[in-house]
Amino acid sequence: MGTYVTHLECSLTGKRYPAGEPHGLSDAGRPLLVRYDLEAMAADLSKDTLAASPAPGFWRYADFLPVEDPTHRVSLGEVVTPILPLRSLGKPGRVLVKDEGRLPTGSFKARGLALAVSMAKSFGIEHLAIPTNGNAGAAMAAYARAAGMSATVLCPEDTPDINLREIAAQGAETWLVDGLINDCGKIVGGGKEAVGWFDVSTLKEPYRIEGKKTMGLELAEQMDWELPDVIFYPTGGGTGLIGMWKAFAELQAMGWIGEKLPRMVAVQATGCAPIVKAWEEGEEHAPLWENAHTVAAGIRVPIAVGDFLILRAVRDSGGFAMAVPDDEIVAMRDRIAAEEGVLLCPEGAATAVAYRRALSEGLVGKDDHALLWNCATGLKYPLPEVTRRLSKDAVDYGVFAS
Ligand SMILES: *Cc1c(COP(=O)(O)O)cnc(C)c1O
Repeated sequence: MGTYVTHLECSLTGKRYPAGEPHGLSDAGRPLLVRYDLEAMAADLSKDTLAASPAPGFWRYADFLPVEDPTHRVSLGEVVTPILPLRSLGKPGRVLVKDEGRLPTGSFKARGLALAVSMAKSFGIEHLAIPTNGNAGAAMAAYARAAGMSATVLCPEDTPDINLREIAAQGAETWLVDGLINDCGKIVGGGKEAVGWFDVSTLKEPYRIEGKKTMGLELAEQMDWELPDVIFYPTGGGTGLIGMWKAFAELQAMGWIGEKLPRMVAVQATGCAPIVKAWEEGEEHAPLWENAHTVAAGIRVPIAVGDFLILRAVRDSGGFAMAVPDDEIVAMRDRIAAEEGVLLCPEGAATAVAYRRALSEGLVGKDDHALLWNCATGLKYPLPEVTRRLSKDAVDYGVFAS
């Protein structure tokens, strides 16, 4: 066995760190990126052997990942998530959605946390802690408990109730905090010294990015190594956008995909759009967004340690960033579900709103192949109430739609 990992590297300064031991942020306080011997991978691996891999879900990309001993893989039955066409948004065949709601714990947070927990297991770490708006905490709790580790989860007070209950039900000690996710993050940070927690916050350990990288690998393989023209990503901490961009760079270095990469679009809600503001102002970093609020809880992230990595990927890819309002997000979610039978989460619906706007503003062409990310199951969110009532003793068939 063994992996192709050579070292880790500070995403800001390039300073090298050894693999094989636990890490948090770099000395510069920025995310660490895992580096691989891509030349050796290109020589050893092939698309055909990958196609024949019997490993379930994203574990088929184990050669692109840092988990050395297969017995350290913590799995809850990951699947390759389907790509569905959306008929009502644009020209037929041009708009696709990758539905991550099918993963364990109902969101793509499973990818990142499965990797982070597997690596923590390989290092013998026993107690994980995380600040969360919901889905990351749920995935952390489930994978930590599956691995036999303790889990502590801190949630902002306005975290949706269903997420809270899910986290607690999956065995994490769960706390409500009278603040936002960054306030929860500070408490988790302090707990490293005080009570020996290992911090698995977004981008504050190196392996959630590697898990989210599998989104890019899986997308490329599913699309037969022809990536879409443009990718719309609902951006909170940006792990997925950064991870996908890293996947594309690694595949390109290995010669598995061509020169042309997708344009990356960071979608946020108008009530919490720090990355959009920084993109519009040409800044490299995105300061804290005050009074963050949106129904799309997964993208209610007022400040991101990987801000510059998100902005670089957006700029280097020729993409853009766009904020969309809550009322349009909810209306889009409801419309697509009613017309197409595809129930997106609000964050996924935000990408659909952004796609429609970008189309009407000429930022994308109607013949461009667009891929939207639906990051979670729509079933975790409040849905419109049903108001029709029928008496079993007095049925008038005239009331039914024909
Ligand atoms: C976490 C989350 C996001 C944002 O993902 P990042 O990669 O952290 O930017 C979007 N949607 C949902 C449903 C999420 O849970």
